Amino acid sequence: MMFDAEKIRKDFPILDVHVNGKRLVYLDNAATTQKPKRVIDALVKYYSEENSNVHRGVHFLSDKATTLYENSRKTIAEFINAGKPEELIFVRGTTEAINLVASSYGEVSVGTGDEVIVSHLEHHSNIVPWQILCERKGASLKVIPVNDSGELDIEAYRKLLSSRTKIVAVNQISNSLGTVNPVREIIRQAHDAGAVVLIDGAQAVQHSNVDVRELDADFYAFSGHKMYGPTGIGILYGKEKLLDSMPPYQGGGDMIKNVSFEKTTYNELPYKFEAGTPDISGAIVLSEAVKYIKEIGIENIAGHERELLEYGTSKLSEIDGFRLVGNAKEKASVISFLLDGIHPYDTGAILDKTGIAVRTGLHCTEPLMKRFGIPGTVRASIAMYNTKEEIDALVNGVIKAKKMLS
Ligand code: PLP
Repeated sequence: MMFDAEKIRKDFPILDVHVNGKRLVYLDNAATTQKPKRVIDALVKYYSEENSNVHRGVHFLSDKATTLYENSRKTIAEFINAGKPEELIFVRGTTEAINLVASSYGEVSVGTGDEVIVSHLEHHSNIVPWQILCERKGASLKVIPVNDSGELDIEAYRKLLSSRTKIVAVNQISNSLGTVNPVREIIRQAHDAGAVVLIDGAQAVQHSNVDVRELDADFYAFSGHKMYGPTGIGILYGKEKLLDSMPPYQGGGDMIKNVSFEKTTYNELPYKFEAGTPDISGAIVLSEAVKYIKEIGIENIAGHERELLEYGTSKLSEIDGFRLVGNAKEKASVISFLLDGIHPYDTGAILDKTGIAVRTGLHCTEPLMKRFGIPGTVRASIAMYNTKEEIDALVNGVIKAKKMLS
């Protein structure tokens, strides 16, 4: 299929919105993506025609909702090439997925004197759950350093690994800088040291082909809302053997087999980790987003985004005082930058006046910003529906911001 961003834009009603009298230029896709009409329609259809609780009733609608919910699990399992749908747990998002693993797998695998490794590039969601675990268990957190380009120091990582390492948790693509990390190599080395690996794929599933079995990832986490799906739903993938060995994360309905006051037994996978009524509509609608991505083709999406990344980086770099933060050799579609002597919030506010939505600040990566000695960045993050004209608008907006603020 020929990639046609203009045609794709027509699928996203919100792109017609005007902001401050200007047509919206939405470049805050790493925070959350917009939703195509078929995803919105699927949500309306669910509540108009299919709504019921799952796994609980014998009636028509309950059966229908349960089938749709479980079919969605299958569709998403295929999308990341999981071995079985039962290896996918529906959670609220990446943050909950990581907390689940830190809390449950951490409980049985990490003890006093053990170590957990994260990287300097991590989102707070992939730092704080591990800090809480380490505090609880008397373990220590080790950090893979980054170089000035925003790439992980793999040699330093190798030296951090030891028999004390129990868990390595790193992202596949950095939300702040766009760095694509060599996760296959990271996983291989961790496995050689006897550790398991959680990959934070929040910024990867919507930009690249993810194959959890080829990666040999033990756990893989991502959020629906960053991949053209709804908020409130995400996925934790885990190898069956590991998930089976873990204690429940939360107690309640659906996660039990039998309950008595003397002894309660737990349900099998994946229900053991899905306590209470799940986000049924979110789970069902997420599969619609996955089907949409598959129809357009992740390679086509990645190719288009790469073109815009290169175009935007080169155009912006011509502006006097423009400083790119993060120029890894392998990068996804994030342009993080500063203008000399200008606070990122001020640049962001001027861009907003011209209808351009970018993110400013720490991007939930405070340690990384400290590492670079900066108060944050302006971040333009690109999705499949962005165009060259929008990148030109960004460049003009940045030139205007610089004139007004310097
Ligand atoms: N990890 C990364 C790399 C992210 O970019 C984000 C969100 O920005 C998260 C984790 C947290 O995702 P969520 O807020 O959807 O749980």
